[in-house]
Amino acid sequence: MSNKSHMNPIKKMRHILSLSGGKDSTALALYMRDRIPQMEYVFCDTGEELQETYDYLERLEAHLGKPIERLNPERPFKHYLDIYRGVLPDPRTRWCTRMLKLKPFEKYVGNDPVSLYVGIRADEPKRTGYVSKKPNIKAYFPFIEDKIRYQDVMRILEDSGIGIPEYYKWRSRSGCYFCFFQQRREWVALLENHPDLFARAAAFEKTDPNSGKNFTWIQGESLRELSNPKRIEEIKREYTIKMNRKEKIKIDPDTPLMNVFDDHCSGNCKADHFL
Ligand code: SF4
Repeated sequence: MSNKSHMNPIKKMRHILSLSGGKDSTALALYMRDRIPQMEYVFCDTGEELQETYDYLERLEAHLGKPIERLNPERPFKHYLDIYRGVLPDPRTRWCTRMLKLKPFEKYVGNDPVSLYVGIRADEPKRTGYVSKKPNIKAYFPFIEDKIRYQDVMRILEDSGIGIPEYYKWRSRSGCYFCFFQQRREWVALLENHPDLFARAAAFEKTDPNSGKNFTWIQGESLRELSNPKRIEEIKREYTIKMNRKEKIKIDPDTPLMNVFDDHCSGNCKADHFL
C-alpha cells in the first residue's frame, strides 16, 4: 500500500474577511479586493439585522464582484433567549455574540488555517473586538499596518461609489436593531425610523414572575417607559445639551466625526464582531 494514502494533505491557508455591515469592514473589503483576490467575504447574520444592512451588503457584493457568504446561527435569537430563561444579553454576558456570530463563524472555518482580516483603523488602536481565540485563526490588521485612518476609510467608500450605510443617518454603528450598546437617543431613533423593530425589541423585555426582576435592554428603564413622549423629549433635550457642550470643546481635527458625536464609538466600543 502506498504511504501516500496515510499522509495528511497540508491544508491551504484560507483568507477571510468578516463584514459587519458597517463602514470600516466595508472599506477594508474594497481595500483588499485586488490585493487578495481569493479572499472569502462572510457576514454573520443574526437574523435581527436592519434592512439597511442587508441592502448595503447587496451593494457591496456588486462592488466586490463576488458573493458575500451569509452565515446563520443554527437557531434563532428567541431560541437562545429561552435557553437563557429570558435574560437578555448585556455587555457583560454577550451571549448573543457567542451564539449568533462567533459559533457560526467557527463552524464555517472548521479547523482550516485562516488569515482573518480585521477593519480596525490606525486612529483607533485601542478599539477592542470580539475575535475568535481558535489557534487556527490568525488575525491581521491591514489598516493599522498601512496607517489607514478615518478620513482614508471615508475616501475609499466615496471613491468606490458605495458611500456609507443609510442607518448612519440615525445610528452610530452596525449590528442588531436591539443592540444593548445603543444609546438612549439611538433607541428613540429606532422608534422613529423602524417602529415595528422597536416594538419587536420591546416584546423581548419581560418581568420574571418568580423574582419580579425586570429583563430590559437598558438597565433600569424599559422600552415602554422610554417611548413615552415626555421621556423622548427629555432624551432629545439631554442629547442636544451634550452635543452643544462637545462643540465648545476643542477637538483634534483628526478625530473622526462619528467619534466626536458619539461616546459609544469613542475608541473603546466593545460591540464589534471581528471574530
Ligand atoms: S450587535 Fe449587539 S446585540 Fe447583536 S450580537 Fe452584537 S453585541 Fe449582540
